[in-house]
Amino acid sequence: MIELRQIEHAFTLGRKGQERRVPVLRGIDLTIRKGEIVTLIGRSGSGKSTLLHIASGFIRPTSGRVSIAGLDVTDYSEGQWADFRRRYLGFVFQNFQLIPSMTAFENTELPLVLQGLPAGERRKQATEILEKLGIAAYADHYPSELSGGQQQRVGIARSLILNPPVLLADEPTGSLDSENEEQLLQLLQTLNRDHGITLLIITHDDKVASIGNRTMRIEDGRLADPANGSPNEYRKLEVVKP
Ligand code: ADP
Ligand code: MG
Repeated sequence: MIELRQIEHAFTLGRKGQERRVPVLRGIDLTIRKGEIVTLIGRSGSGKSTLLHIASGFIRPTSGRVSIAGLDVTDYSEGQWADFRRRYLGFVFQNFQLIPSMTAFENTELPLVLQGLPAGERRKQATEILEKLGIAAYADHYPSELSGGQQQRVGIARSLILNPPVLLADEPTGSLDSENEEQLLQLLQTLNRDHGITLLIITHDDKVASIGNRTMRIEDGRLADPANGSPNEYRKLEVVKP
């Protein structure tokens, strides 16, 4: 479902005339199969978010190829990426990224508004997903009237409303207390099990990492198997959960 081949990335830093290149990713190979949950760990600054941004077209890698759902998207234009993301990728953010002036319902239906769907159809789909995520009772609440866990769910509802086959999460539990963290992890596993959604989750939390069918660590710009420290591809850390 996601194929990263020999991804290298360096950022350019420093003032004009004195630029230096800082390599962050030095050859990442990662294949994520349909229906898998892969968790990616690594210390702060190791390049986890950079890799996720490359896999979602927000950063163009210095070199390497990105394929998603069998499509080589490496050379897509910004417009093509925007279109592709709407169709294939859902995102879960640490800071939820809800629009404060819109209710939970309005935030959720937003992608359908942008698609020009009629109000009746939007209401049906948004209500369905809010119910599925257990937050239908809060449909009329504004983000400021919701707990962190509830805001997180609204963000996920909005991400899922176009039925993307892939969900990308960057530190999804970063702003949640332990009870909400537990609930979010269960929700992600349910989405994976019942809807076959493929998940790539970035985290520095071992408990979050443990829901992965596989866990990979970024170290010195390369992927390692945390169990034995071998570079690049990995072995299965855990038996796939039923
Ligand atoms: P992580 O998510 O693992 O904490 P990041 O991918 O955010 O790490 O960052 C990896 C490294 O790249 C860090 O050293 C960071 O300072 C640097 N970096 C990230 N984004 C930029 C940018 N836009 N410009 C320059 N350097 C950046
Ligand atoms: Mg990060």
